[in-house]
Amino acid sequence: MNAEIIAVGSELLLGQITNTNARFLSQHLAEIGVNVFYHTVVGDNEGRLEDAVKLAQKRADLIVFSGGLGPTKDDLTKETIARLMGKTLTYNEEALESIQAYFQKTGRVMTENNKKQALVIEGSTVLPNDYGMAPGMFVKKDRIHYMLLPGPPKEMQPMFLNYGRPEILHTMEKVERIESRVLRFFGIGESALETEIDDILMKQTNPTIAPLAGDGEVTLRITAKHESQDEADRLIQLAEDEILERVGAFFYGYGETTIAAELAAKLKEKQVTIAAAESLTGGLFLGELTAIPGTSTVVKGGVVCYTNEIKEQVLRVKHDTLTAYGAVSAECAKELAENVRELCDAEIGISFTGAAGPAPLEGQEPGTVFLAISRAGHQTMVHPLKMVGSRAGIRKRTVKYGCHYLLALLDSNSQK
Ligand code: ATP
Ligand code: MG
Repeated sequence: MNAEIIAVGSELLLGQITNTNARFLSQHLAEIGVNVFYHTVVGDNEGRLEDAVKLAQKRADLIVFSGGLGPTKDDLTKETIARLMGKTLTYNEEALESIQAYFQKTGRVMTENNKKQALVIEGSTVLPNDYGMAPGMFVKKDRIHYMLLPGPPKEMQPMFLNYGRPEILHTMEKVERIESRVLRFFGIGESALETEIDDILMKQTNPTIAPLAGDGEVTLRITAKHESQDEADRLIQLAEDEILERVGAFFYGYGETTIAAELAAKLKEKQVTIAAAESLTGGLFLGELTAIPGTSTVVKGGVVCYTNEIKEQVLRVKHDTLTAYGAVSAECAKELAENVRELCDAEIGISFTGAAGPAPLEGQEPGTVFLAISRAGHQTMVHPLKMVGSRAGIRKRTVKYGCHYLLALLDSNSQK
């Protein structure tokens, strides 16, 4: 916050008094982190005061006035500022009462012009004057804050310290909201994703973008700070759009979701039925899908075909296929997917076959996996995968790849 102090009073210009108010205010504003860039002194003259205000409006967020709040004709600070703001002056009841009480207490007669001191700029926060009659004001217009304080130091100082300074602190503290959104990706490594969006990561300030990897997935947390939630959301959205333009193919959901939950939701949304033949995953895929409530309308069932007998006898994989190519093969995966789809009368059949480790299987290294997806009326797609890691990790990632390819398929379907 940048401030300018405008001291109003011809005595200051005539050298009759020293501008100690500017000194006091500067000290206390500096203490709370407000930069005071200009001190202005102007006489009790409406035109010149107006010029001073217009100049200050160009270079300050906070303009603090001292002087000219009294009852006499030459006190014209609030009148001038109200006029410049296009605001009216209204009587402040509390100030009026305290002025009347003051005259009663001191046994003096209140003249009509004393009432003028209870006039305040409409919409302003009134700063009580505990040591005099004219209240101060704090008012905001078009991003600029105006604080009007009385001239006499014994009134101005306690008013500023007790009422003015807290108001300034309050506006400065206008809590910045921190909003964040987590984007979840699968099928792309952390370093590959970071490379794709390197320039976006380099220029980030607000929002900030923090990548995190784990469980074969990458997440990006986009965090924006702003006073207004709408603006924070808008900043996040801009960053999200920019990121998804590059790596949207690997994005599957927001926040705490899982890729299986997203697949379940998509299957339900499109009312597409599915069946699975699971060799190395041993039921993990259907376990994940059926863990989500309400999937019975789309998950038909499947077969855990861990042995070649079950692959052959239940899922009708050709004996020749198993002898010629082995169970860990594209050919076997293709037949498994097609046959489980038919067996379960589903629209989509998916199969998982491979070596989960730790030992090689049929001469295939752990992490060699074939995943096939069969759809009625479409050519079966086989995705060969190569993974490294623990047995548990390979099985889990295989399931996620299944979800990933199915989501891609269902999404591309909807664009037809
Ligand atoms: P009042 O109700 O006393 O008229 P006011 O808010 O109208 O107060 P001024 O009339 O401008 O203020 O000034 C009143 C007195 O306050 C001055 O005579 C002077 O003693 C003191 N004063 C005003 N401005 C300053 C200043 N910038 N620094 C120090 N003292 C000041
Ligand atoms: Mg005065």
